[in-house]
Parts: sequence; structure tokens; C-alpha cells
Amino acid sequence: MALDTNHSHADQVTQNLSQVMQQVEQLALDAGRDQTSVRVLAVSKTKPLDDIKAAYQSGQRAFGENYVQEAFDKHHALSELTDIEWHFIGPIQSNKSRQIAETMHWVHSIDREKIARRLSEQRPEAMPRLQVCIQVNISGEESKSGILLEQLPVMVELVQSLPNLQLRGLMAIPAPQQSYEAQCQVYQPLQQAFLELSKYDRMIDTLSIGMSGDLPAAIASGSTMVRVGTAIFGARDYAH
Ligand SMILES: *Cc1c(COP(=O)(O)O)cnc(C)c1O
Repeated sequence: MALDTNHSHADQVTQNLSQVMQQVEQLALDAGRDQTSVRVLAVSKTKPLDDIKAAYQSGQRAFGENYVQEAFDKHHALSELTDIEWHFIGPIQSNKSRQIAETMHWVHSIDREKIARRLSEQRPEAMPRLQVCIQVNISGEESKSGILLEQLPVMVELVQSLPNLQLRGLMAIPAPQQSYEAQCQVYQPLQQAFLELSKYDRMIDTLSIGMSGDLPAAIASGSTMVRVGTAIFGARDYAH
């Protein structure tokens, strides 16, 4: 399909994306893992459609968005690109759950029973199950999103009981740490919990950790999906 894009910036996105892919493959190898074991989710929040098209033309298919209205609008505007996989990675208010249930392929930010139930109820029957990760708060009081690890068994059981959701794994956004060692240490209990879950349910194959600033620690800690915004699309204009 012919896509109209702004060339110099599109070239930059293409170049950044290929660097990120190479870096992720190398980090997987460095960690003694398969080169293809870590997927890259391109986080396009606040970025224009042309940026998404540029990444798409370079072969990227999985895109992450944080804001419901923006995700909904982009999904609509790019509906011709039918093989894009849309991931919702931001907080969800219950009055916005329907838009997510009707458009997204994945949700990484499940941390409330009420939202999980609504997403399952509102998922159209004609669509495949919504693929979900439970968001875990691994940074204590600094984070308002995510459940505590001790609440995980109850949340896992709930999500697995909902007919239109498919539990795929865990997601976390740790507070920034000073060093690589500190980043790994914060991820350690999460990685442990993920390994235990994935042992008894083979559909649980996704550990969604790692952003532009901590890819080495996340991949060394078992990430299977990194969520990369800045390193692909450049800095965002306003702080999110
Ligand atoms: C913005 C965002 C990212 C991407 O962050 P970068 O530092 O730009 O790579 C990843 N995950 C979530 C949940 C985000 O909100």
C-alpha cells in the first residue's frame, strides 16, 4: 500500500527502529537467550499517524498507546492497515472500557477486578479474546498503578475465569533506578512470579517489561516484550 509520509522524519524512525531491533536481539543473545525471544512494542502515544506509518513501512506491526481517545482515533484512522496489532498500555477508567474492548488486541494494564470484568463483558463476540497482562506494582508507594505481588494469585484466578479475556502474562513500570544492578533487583521478584505462572499455564508467555531507558536490565530479567517509545520515535513534546 502506498503511504504518504514526511520523508526525513520517516527515515529517522526507520533508522531508529532498526537500531532498536538490533540492540534487542543483541541483548537477548548477551543474556543467553534466543535472538528472537523479545518482541518490540512500538509505543506511539502522542506521536502523529505519519510516525506509525513510517514504522509500519519498516515492518513494525505492534503499536502501544496510553490514552483511550487517542488509541481509538488512531485505530480508526489506520483501519486500512488491518494487520496492525494495537496494545493498550495506559490506565483505564471504567467509562472508557468499551472503546478499548471494541478496538484493541491487547491490554497490558489490567489492575482492577471491575475493569477486567467490564472488558470481558464488552468484548464483541465476533472478535478473538482480548489478550491481557496483569500490571504489577513493583516499586511500592511511588506507583499508583498495578496490583501488589501478593494480590497476584487472586487476580490471575479472576482473569482466567473471564470468558473473553486471555491471560498472557505480567506487565510492570518500575520507578527509575540509579544503576543496572538496581534495575535488575527491582525486576527479580516479578520475573520469579512470571516463571512460576508460565510453568502451569502455557498461554502465559509474556513478561512486558523494559522501556527506552532500561532495555539491558529488562532483557536480562526475562522480558519477552519491551515497550519502546522514545528510542524509536524521539522525545515526546510533553511529559507523560
Ligand atoms: C510511554 C510508555 C512507554 C515508553 O516509554 P519510553 O521511555 O518512551 O520508551 C512504555 N510503557 C508505558 C506504560 C508507557 O506509558
